[in-house]
Amino acid sequence: MSESKNFLRTIVEEDLKSGKYKEVVTRFPPEPNGFPHIGHAKSIFINFGIARDYKGHCNLRMDDTNPTKEDLKYVEALKDAVEWLGFDWGENVYFTSDYFPKLYDYAVKLIKMGKAYVDSLTEDEIREYRGTVTQVGKRSKYAKRTIEENLDLFERMKKGEFKDGEHILRAKIDMSAANMKMRDPLLYRIRHTHHFRAANEWYIYPMYDFAHCLSDYIEGITHSICTLEFENNRDIYNWVLDELGLELPRPYQHEFARLGINYTVMSKRKLLELVEGGQVSGWDDPRLPTIAGYKRRGYTPESILNFCDQIGIAKANSMVDVSQLEFCIRDDLNKKVPRVMCVLDPLKVTIENYDGCEDIDASYYPHDVPKEGYRVLPFSREIYIERDDFNQNPPKGYYRLTPTQPVRLRHGYIISCKEVVKDANGNITEIKAEYYSNSKSGSDTSGIKVKSAIQWVSVKDAKSVEVRIYDRLFACVAPDGVEDINPDSLQVIKNAFVEPAVITQKPDERFQFEREGYFYADPIDYTDENPVFNKIVGLKDSYSKKTKANEPVSKPQIKKAQVDGKIAAMSETQQLLFDKYTSELKLNNEVSNILARDEYLSNFYEETLSTLNSPVSLANIVTNEVARVIKENQSDELKFNAKQIAQLIKMVDDEIISSKIAKQVFETMTKSGEDPTQIVDACGLIQISDPSKILPIIDEIIVKNPDNVLKFKAGNNKLLGFFVGQVLKATNGKANPKVVNELVVQKLK
Ligand code: ATP
Ligand code: MG
Repeated sequence: MSESKNFLRTIVEEDLKSGKYKEVVTRFPPEPNGFPHIGHAKSIFINFGIARDYKGHCNLRMDDTNPTKEDLKYVEALKDAVEWLGFDWGENVYFTSDYFPKLYDYAVKLIKMGKAYVDSLTEDEIREYRGTVTQVGKRSKYAKRTIEENLDLFERMKKGEFKDGEHILRAKIDMSAANMKMRDPLLYRIRHTHHFRAANEWYIYPMYDFAHCLSDYIEGITHSICTLEFENNRDIYNWVLDELGLELPRPYQHEFARLGINYTVMSKRKLLELVEGGQVSGWDDPRLPTIAGYKRRGYTPESILNFCDQIGIAKANSMVDVSQLEFCIRDDLNKKVPRVMCVLDPLKVTIENYDGCEDIDASYYPHDVPKEGYRVLPFSREIYIERDDFNQNPPKGYYRLTPTQPVRLRHGYIISCKEVVKDANGNITEIKAEYYSNSKSGSDTSGIKVKSAIQWVSVKDAKSVEVRIYDRLFACVAPDGVEDINPDSLQVIKNAFVEPAVITQKPDERFQFEREGYFYADPIDYTDENPVFNKIVGLKDSYSKKTKANEPVSKPQIKKAQVDGKIAAMSETQQLLFDKYTSELKLNNEVSNILARDEYLSNFYEETLSTLNSPVSLANIVTNEVARVIKENQSDELKFNAKQIAQLIKMVDDEIISSKIAKQVFETMTKSGEDPTQIVDACGLIQISDPSKILPIIDEIIVKNPDNVLKFKAGNNKLLGFFVGQVLKATNGKANPKVVNELVVQKLK
């Protein structure tokens, strides 16, 4: 496999080269509160992949700090998924709950340092006191408790003397921090609940922000890789580790974009709803995006890893087209699995001029697959063909059997129709046909021209099987839940027929049923009496082209788009959009790719463009911020519209606000739906570009950082970023970075 180099790998390489760490140690830290899905596969692929390629180690850690939702069956499912994908976590699976005693000691240490306190506000008060993005918070009066009081209360919390919610432990950081997460984050809460491993030993449980960084530290993790929604938590991560003054080296957090796929829901909560609501048969229902579901459906680990590699690792959230995953499985199976014949909707054909039977040696693999192997394919007077491979009144371009058009039986003879037999209702019940004895495939001297070959099975040799045909579980591109379910996502065919070779194979086997798709013997329901086959995927992307193939298909005919050197499937419309975005609007490939593949996003984008001609900036905010909110808010209508986004970007373009402030304003828009101009006015967020206001701040920073000033003057240009960053910080992001840049250079060079 060709894992492309990405920014995470670059960081790891640099850290190893500089000697920051001797060995890379990563971890995959799921919460055991549901079955892992394809998003987790991406995380597994990244964490275990990096550890493997840089000769390090990856821990499997159950992040089990929330006793109400966790269960051992999920632990087993997680282990199974990692193993199935081909990775090895070594001797032990780790559990955050094993660190509860150590974490408690660290909390006590923070209290003793005066860096943590027991708060007794209600949940509502805590929320109210926290303030908003535009309003500083207010510290609780309980923050004044003495260290002794705090130690006493915290110990009694631990002993179970208080009810849930009565007290919590908080870090004492900064109630006016621009990063809301830093406003005295919660470290411990009371929960009188049985824990699936720690049983009833604990009445307090650490919060993610406290437990995660310390668990990483305890395990000697070097690179703590997580998804983008934890970006703001990084400050707490660093705060906890730094304040505790732990022995180095310590881990650092790095974020990447989480995977979203269209036509499905992905969060464990939503998946649990489907499982509990009975909309699917269980966590391993082949229609679910869970690893267990893919495994049961017949996907291969290779195809999923390939997919994870192809989609790459980005810093911006995006939606990946599910057809890209389907492409990967098709691509994998195309070369691997034998091709056999199955008739799903049988129509009997009696070949009147043929008597007896014969065995045909039929190749399993077509010429373009460099693999040997064949099976014995019985042929006889009575066969089944697919009902729609015969047409009495064929439309133009129909290449299969008609009253006047012969057809080839795959691997066998050419036949033509002599008579159509119907029942009292006019339904066709049988075809009487004749064959040409000199037309056998491979030694055909008949000279008869046919336009296609169709699948068939011999009636007396065929085996009846059950075939389960799956379609997408959701009919809409960005489904929300139960209400968007596709009622036709499962079709069960009880009486399909396969040739004998399919049955004599061992179970757990995959096949291509020619002209139908790839199929997998269901690992659970398959029995000798009732063989069951799951459809893994069709032979081509049925969504981009609805018509059925006339010819046996050997390779998926999918349009390919070059995206960052990767080949991915795109429909024709998507391709046109992609071309327009890259060539006319000069967007980069990544952004164009995201927009072109997502109809909703591209429509939204076009609408913003109709108000403001700023294609690049608009594309950036739509593919990053807007896409993220759509993803997170699947249930609600968006509070803001395209026009408001254009307004916001116009303010950035006009240098009224900085892009940093624009992000804050955007967050407020997502909640209140107010116009960005209103928000900026009301909160006094207008950018500071006036040098007379900025210069004094620069002076102050120069005084405070004499060492860096010297280094910068001596030529360490990297420090420019430091100085600009300090000014931005001092102005809460309101200073105009361009102006700051110029002024710093003027002052210091
Ligand atoms: P969900 O919201 O789907 O329930 P989660 O983030 O709560 O997922 P965890 O069990 O906490 O799930 O995640 C374990 C690891 O997998 C984390 O590092 C998380 O960042 C990562 N992960 C979860 N979902 C995705 C995704 N869609 N794409 C990439 N990584 C993911
Ligand atoms: Mg979660």
